[in-house]
Amino acid sequence: EGRGHRVDRPVRISVQRHRYGEGKQLLLTRDVTMVEQAEAMRRDFVANVSHEIRTPLTVLSGFVETIQTLALTPEEQKHYLSLMATQAHRMQGLVEDLLTLSRLEGSPVPGVHQSFPLARLLQACEQEANGLSASMSQGQVSHHIDFVVQPALAEAVLLGESRELQSALSNLVSNAVRYTPAGGQVRVAWSRTADGAIFSVTDTGPGISPEHLPRLSERFYRVDRSRSRETGGTGLGLAIAKHVVQRHGGELRIQSQVGKGSTFMLVLPASRIELLSD
Ligand code: ADP
Repeated sequence: EGRGHRVDRPVRISVQRHRYGEGKQLLLTRDVTMVEQAEAMRRDFVANVSHEIRTPLTVLSGFVETIQTLALTPEEQKHYLSLMATQAHRMQGLVEDLLTLSRLEGSPVPGVHQSFPLARLLQACEQEANGLSASMSQGQVSHHIDFVVQPALAEAVLLGESRELQSALSNLVSNAVRYTPAGGQVRVAWSRTADGAIFSVTDTGPGISPEHLPRLSERFYRVDRSRSRETGGTGLGLAIAKHVVQRHGGELRIQSQVGKGSTFMLVLPASRIELLSD
């Protein structure tokens, strides 16, 4: 039996027979389950990326053709151009997220020589969240959004890559705003734990049923495809957040209840936090 064998997860064994010497044979067996899994994941990924790029591209070229062939009024043209801009924007977002992921995979674990105030990360999130909430509802901030730093962390600095951590945080915050209907609440908080700190984003959105939770941070895994698209999602936000926090020695945790809402947490170890009051 190979490692991690389960009824629903068959093990693949490669068996090779080699002749050697005088009438002797060597039987070589190898558990290739992981190798094959990695290969299958790579294939899926390429197929997914192609699909994700093709969809907006098809829409975009459809509109180009419309504008080229139909005699449109200036208003109609404007309308089509704004639809085209949306699709172009979607492709840009996707390519940016893909580049972020590939940078994360290709670079060494962030050192602890870079430090930056934890509170500063929150300011950028705040602007982004309010902007997003307003853009979803014709100019009015339509969610009740709170930002809280526990006093013990008010002066704290984080050690690591600020750009990476910023993108992890803002992915969680923007998800909460995007998936929570107007009028809902979002609470963004930094709190201290016995051995580190937790960044948490709690929303009063639709929640996620338990069977989806383990797969949520897989690339392109979505519970609700159309909602993700409508709100400009790439399907890569949680994959990025998880990767970033793991590179900093922490983990992504998700709690959710259908109909009540969700909490997404980035748990960081003490080694990444410096309390200036210490
Ligand atoms: P997307 O760009 O689709 O939002 P993510 O990787 O950020 O991709 O999230 C993956 C999926 O997890 C989303 O498509 C959505 O179904 C679900 N999800 C993420 N955040 C939330 C949330 N706050 N509330 C409900 N569902 C969420």
